Amino acid sequence: MISQQTIQEIQSRIDIYDIVGSFVKLKRRGTNFIGNCPFHNEKTPSFTVSPSKEIYKCFGCGKSGNAIGFVMEHEKYSYVEALRWLATRYNIDIVETETSPEYKEQQQTADSLHILNQFAAKYFSAQLLESEEGQNNALSYLKERGFNELTIEKFQLGYCLNQRDAFTKEALKHQYSEDILKKSGLTIERDGQLLDNYRGRIIFPIQNQSGKIIGFGARVIGSSDRGPKYINTPENELYVKSRILYGSFFARHPIDKFDECYLVEGYTDVTAMHQAGIENVVASGGTSLTIDQLRLIKKYTNNLTIIYDGDAAGVKAALRGLDLAIEEGLNVQMVLIPDKEDPDSYVMKVGAEEFRNFINLNKKDFILFQLEVSLTDAGNDSTRKAAVVNQIAESISKLSRAEDFTRQQDYIKRCSSILKVDEQGLTALVKKFTIEKLGKDEKKFQRNTEEKEPEQQTSEKEDQSLDLLFKDEMNEQGVVRSLIEFGNQPWEETNSVADYIFLEIEKDGLEDLFDNKLLVEIINEYKSILERGTRPDEKFFLYHPDQKIGQMAVSLLTEKHQISPNWAKFYQGKILDRSDLYREEVRSSMTYLKLKKVKRLIVENQYDLEKEQSQDDILILLHTHKHLKELEMQLMKDIGTVIFK
Ligand code: ZN
Repeated sequence: MISQQTIQEIQSRIDIYDIVGSFVKLKRRGTNFIGNCPFHNEKTPSFTVSPSKEIYKCFGCGKSGNAIGFVMEHEKYSYVEALRWLATRYNIDIVETETSPEYKEQQQTADSLHILNQFAAKYFSAQLLESEEGQNNALSYLKERGFNELTIEKFQLGYCLNQRDAFTKEALKHQYSEDILKKSGLTIERDGQLLDNYRGRIIFPIQNQSGKIIGFGARVIGSSDRGPKYINTPENELYVKSRILYGSFFARHPIDKFDECYLVEGYTDVTAMHQAGIENVVASGGTSLTIDQLRLIKKYTNNLTIIYDGDAAGVKAALRGLDLAIEEGLNVQMVLIPDKEDPDSYVMKVGAEEFRNFINLNKKDFILFQLEVSLTDAGNDSTRKAAVVNQIAESISKLSRAEDFTRQQDYIKRCSSILKVDEQGLTALVKKFTIEKLGKDEKKFQRNTEEKEPEQQTSEKEDQSLDLLFKDEMNEQGVVRSLIEFGNQPWEETNSVADYIFLEIEKDGLEDLFDNKLLVEIINEYKSILERGTRPDEKFFLYHPDQKIGQMAVSLLTEKHQISPNWAKFYQGKILDRSDLYREEVRSSMTYLKLKKVKRLIVENQYDLEKEQSQDDILILLHTHKHLKELEMQLMKDIGTVIFK
């Protein structure tokens, strides 16, 4: 983790004009700067940067923030990634705290792989463009397929000579280790000999969304029958297949601007579309979509349009993983490329404008498309038709987030009319799948929390302690302890920890969660002292005239570390000033309390659900359930970050 000191240094060095100016062309206007907004399409600038306030704001789309926020938004980085980016830019050495040796080693391997990949990409590119073999075998083939030099350069396409170890030798000469070479997949070992893995193939470097080369796809030339069409980098510290979308680095800003992401299957579909001028496109690499890929897309847009070619395998591949997309709240459309073409050849044939027109005219909503395909398939067979109804109900049930409620209703209406079935009946069926899924999620969630425990033998114990936290009053105790111990400490500039705690309790209606009368008394007394304009300290409660309260205060203050067992484990053996950590502890106590509230609401909601008869009300309760579960997940996640920060 990045140290507080480093963060402060970065913050003090940031120049918002410099940061934004490296992505947006800015012109001075008075004390401010203006430019065309990078977050929405505009011709007259409404994007303003104020160096004195150190903020940016767009009056067109409303996006605003500071320099770190800008880097996060523009590059779709997390907070930490943005800090790293800024540190590199200003040559600030990052001081890390609390990094495990395993993590460090993993980072080092990933760095080495990255450096080797850069070297390899350069080498392969030179072989393609400059060597005789590359020009004759590969470059001519790419040109035959319609790729020009700009595209070849942009995607850094390359060629691996058809010799046993030309690349490996060169890499060893440049001090790259055998281990890293093998790990990268560029070199393989056979009978004790090191060989180039991609001999005689065209090389597609694969970049992540920030432009780092993390691996390669190596394609045979023409339709050779030597081995598979593509060989890809094996999974390693840098290359994690389930997170990769080919072309995402070049596509991220166009996707943002067009608010739509095209998804194709192959690397050459991406390069061909880019060459034609359609840049909001990525490739999945032919496997079904993973949750990580969908979330990557979702960082940029909610509109996913899947372009696939006409063979049956293409349709099936396109349909796989799409329920996941719907669950993620993506608006999924499908387009079939006509006449047995693929996106690559079709865009080359008709050009960008006609291609875009075709897509806009022919894209179909995924659920309705699925319905259409399956109905045609089923014909007059009533058993198969029933299966179609089931399948559609299941797809619609995936639209279960609270904000999808109207969309779900709309689908039920439209699909029941297409299927000629009773709307009420379809609603009931959708509900059935929703309930089934809730049950499955519950089990999965329980499994996941167990799996996440690093030590299996203690996991059960810790689960129990977490459970205890909700059964007994430890979470309320945590809040009251924070109040007594840290109440007078500053929370933010103008308020204290006590002010913060009381505000949160009032805001989220948490008063009724304190079951222990003594705790309630302490809270009330604290409040009334505050209202009189003074502040009680620890001693006030420790030496309270009411002995019971005094005892409670003692037991609270001596059982410090029980609220987050992981916390103590994590900091074991390290000398840390406890007062440095009080904000984390206060936040953690409040989160536990909120979690208790949410859990209580879930139970009440389930109770209502069991009694409720009307279909409409059941749907609403189900959505409430889903929403509460999401809140619960978020709070659990918050507790995780607080504990491990
Ligand atoms: Zn804007």
